[in-house]
Amino acid sequence: MGKEKPATIAIDGPAASGKSTIGYLLAKRLGYLYFDTGAMYRALTWAALEQNLDTKDQEAMTELARSVEIEIRPGNAKDGRHYTVLLNGKDVTWAIRRPEVDGQVSVVSAHPGVRQIMSQRQREIGKRGRTVMVGRDIGTVVLPDADLKIYLDASPEVRARRRLMQIESRGEKADSQQILEEMRRRDRIDSQRQLAPLKPAEDAVIVDTDPLTLGQVMEKVIGLAEGWRGK
Ligand code: C5P
Repeated sequence: MGKEKPATIAIDGPAASGKSTIGYLLAKRLGYLYFDTGAMYRALTWAALEQNLDTKDQEAMTELARSVEIEIRPGNAKDGRHYTVLLNGKDVTWAIRRPEVDGQVSVVSAHPGVRQIMSQRQREIGKRGRTVMVGRDIGTVVLPDADLKIYLDASPEVRARRRLMQIESRGEKADSQQILEEMRRRDRIDSQRQLAPLKPAEDAVIVDTDPLTLGQVMEKVIGLAEGWRGK
């Protein structure tokens, strides 16, 4: 008989801490669903920008969150995507990675009305089990009963370097200082917001990824999942 595995795994952490890559690889390894909750906030932000709405307007953003259809499906194109994001049926997988979205997403995601709608949808998906869910508040708010909670941390400098490499690997150009500043700004808003701020759950395992390679982080995370002894 195989050993029992954690049915729900929450991975939280700041921008570019490696949580998306690690979450994706871990889900693949376990045969679980990989669900990146940041993509939902990004898709909503893209919808707001497309419609020229004021992202600071809580009522407008909440109404938008209520009315848009955001679907995240397993990747269906050979362009390096880990999943496909559909906004009202349209493929926005790459559009939601644009700098305009980076610049506004933390403003959109700080509105309590928006968070309520998004976390509810995320919880329904997580409840089905066999899921690796990645975000900022998964272990604390969305799935407080997750079997295994991991918080991936890294210094802003290391994260900015990783993000720059990611951008350059797509053949795009970026300024490292600008990335660092933008990342710090986003982290500040994400960790200081009143509702569901970025922070490790009390029962999360914190992994400092600064001195580790991707392979080493992966090893550690697989060790946590496979060494899980039940709650
Ligand atoms: O993970 P990613 O960088 O794609 O997330 C984009 C933004 O979405 C974050 O900076 C944060 O403002 C918001 N977010 C959130 N809660 C989550 C996931 C993402 O507030 N669970």
